[in-house]
Amino acid sequence: GTLAAADSVDRRPPSPKPPPLRLPKSLPLRSLKPYLLSQSGPVLLGWLCGAVSAFSLSKLVPRIGKFSSDFAGADVFRLRGEGFALGVLLLARAVSSYLQHAFLWDAALKAVYRVRVDAFERVLERDLGFFEGGGGVSAGDIAYRITAEASDVADTIYALLNTIVPSTLQLSAMAMQMLTISPALSLISAVIIPCVALVIAFLGERLRKISKKANLSIAALSAYLNEVLPAIVFVKANNAEACEIARFKRLARVDLSERLKKRKMKALIPQIIQSIYMGALFLFCAGSLLLSKGSFEGCSMVSFVTSLVLIIEPIQDVGKAYNELKQGEPAIERLFELGRFKAKVMEKPDEIHLDNMAGELKFCHVSFRYSDKMALVLDRLDLHIKAGETVALVGPSGGGKTTLVKLLLRLYDPSSGCICVDNYNIQNIQLKSLRRHVCLVSQDITLFSGTVAENIGYRDLMNGIDMDRVELAGQLANADEFIKKLPEGYNTNIGPRGSVLSGGQKQRLAIARAVYQDPSILILDEATSALDSRSELLVRQALQRLMETRTVLVIAHRLETVLMANRIFTLNDGRLQELTRSSLLGGHLNSLESEGLVI
Ligand code: ADP
Ligand code: MG
Repeated sequence: GTLAAADSVDRRPPSPKPPPLRLPKSLPLRSLKPYLLSQSGPVLLGWLCGAVSAFSLSKLVPRIGKFSSDFAGADVFRLRGEGFALGVLLLARAVSSYLQHAFLWDAALKAVYRVRVDAFERVLERDLGFFEGGGGVSAGDIAYRITAEASDVADTIYALLNTIVPSTLQLSAMAMQMLTISPALSLISAVIIPCVALVIAFLGERLRKISKKANLSIAALSAYLNEVLPAIVFVKANNAEACEIARFKRLARVDLSERLKKRKMKALIPQIIQSIYMGALFLFCAGSLLLSKGSFEGCSMVSFVTSLVLIIEPIQDVGKAYNELKQGEPAIERLFELGRFKAKVMEKPDEIHLDNMAGELKFCHVSFRYSDKMALVLDRLDLHIKAGETVALVGPSGGGKTTLVKLLLRLYDPSSGCICVDNYNIQNIQLKSLRRHVCLVSQDITLFSGTVAENIGYRDLMNGIDMDRVELAGQLANADEFIKKLPEGYNTNIGPRGSVLSGGQKQRLAIARAVYQDPSILILDEATSALDSRSELLVRQALQRLMETRTVLVIAHRLETVLMANRIFTLNDGRLQELTRSSLLGGHLNSLESEGLVI
């Protein structure tokens, strides 16, 4: 099912979706504002260096002219001092220009570092619905936004910072020159500015739309690769290489055409703008012809044309920066979109912090559906589990067992009804302390590349892992034996997603991790389904030890596992029903199978 999702290029917004926070139209720059403000130090320094660089340049240009013309006179002694001054100015310009770029990149990259960290934080805060279900945003898409698109944003910020102030300085300096020489001619020349601005604005908007499509197409490609590469065994086993290459080509071709459109647009824009300049020059020539009949001197004419040439460059730069912004806008938008929706699962302000949890568990009239259009998965479900009790849950797949677990961990909140732990509504308990005491070992095991010890002691990864406790957990989960046989024992790296381990070994590691965490409420969601009978027996014995001191909710298909529980329930069509032990033991094979049990 997951492979099929890779096809769609246009990803619909996530569902279930809370109302989006309406943002102003000038969203991209405004959302960057706090990040840029936090970098005001290097920005100001960069701009200062830019001013120094422009100033040295303005001193340098006339001196170079004078120096070269004086050279003919060849009073070498007098020229020596002048040459020294030139050298100092050249060095000053080179150093200040270098520092300008260094400071502005520093600001741009640090700002984007913060944007990136915030985006990742917001992604981790989001409701599970953002990632799951039909409208979910794929990991590849998110990865693309936070990596490549964030880098694009750095380029945009840099271009803006680098262009705006130095260019404005040059622009205003040259404008002053022109105005003092001839106000009339300046006004005629000024006609080009609004023309260029209008065209740039129009083309910039087109460029933004094209860039957005190009970003979506490359994100789709990235999402596709993120799904298909981890499934490489599946692809090879199904002889599906050719099929996957065809799918890759289709997505890559979409990206090709979008990217080509963008490149063409970027090539076209400067041509159009330059043509406008040419037109304006003709206009200017006509004006100068008229004026030259009057009292205009040749020398002033030269200065004026020089200023005009020099003013075109910064205008062009501002135009380029504007285009850079338009091109970066979709990337900024998509990056900030990650945090645009408010999480539904939220802590209340007066949350309860639980240091200890006895483990009493109550489901009161809990109903749940994944989205408004979908049917109820859980229907007014009631269940009371006493502290320390072990309850088994059986039932056909799709019956809602895993959903029940997700509600208990507050990955989703019930549509109606409530769940209580130790008589506190879990919606009033601090999320961290709830999840600290409730531990899930699920069928889909999550292992990270890293050592066995890091995976078992994951909870303490930040604060230092207790190795004795890791080994104890390994023993209790009956994983010690195979771990010791690994090349470096507990310090063996288990590869991406634990790829060097077998399915059963992975499950035992996951159980060891739960033992390490020592939760008050332990949930085993088909956690032992990949074990062989012998390992299952050993793990079951280990679990039996664990069960003595905590509340356990075990979802399983094996009769022996289920029989360890104090009480057994079936979950079918969102309804819960208690099974008596005798009905199970004396039951017919067929009826047991209909409860989803394996004997
Ligand atoms: P079980 O664990 O008992 O096999 P689940 O709780 O995983 O069943 O699923 C119960 C029902 O909810 C199924 O019909 C399934 O298709 C649906 N479902 C599960 N996860 C989602 C989701 N993220 N979005 C929409 N529907 C879902
Ligand atoms: Mg399940």
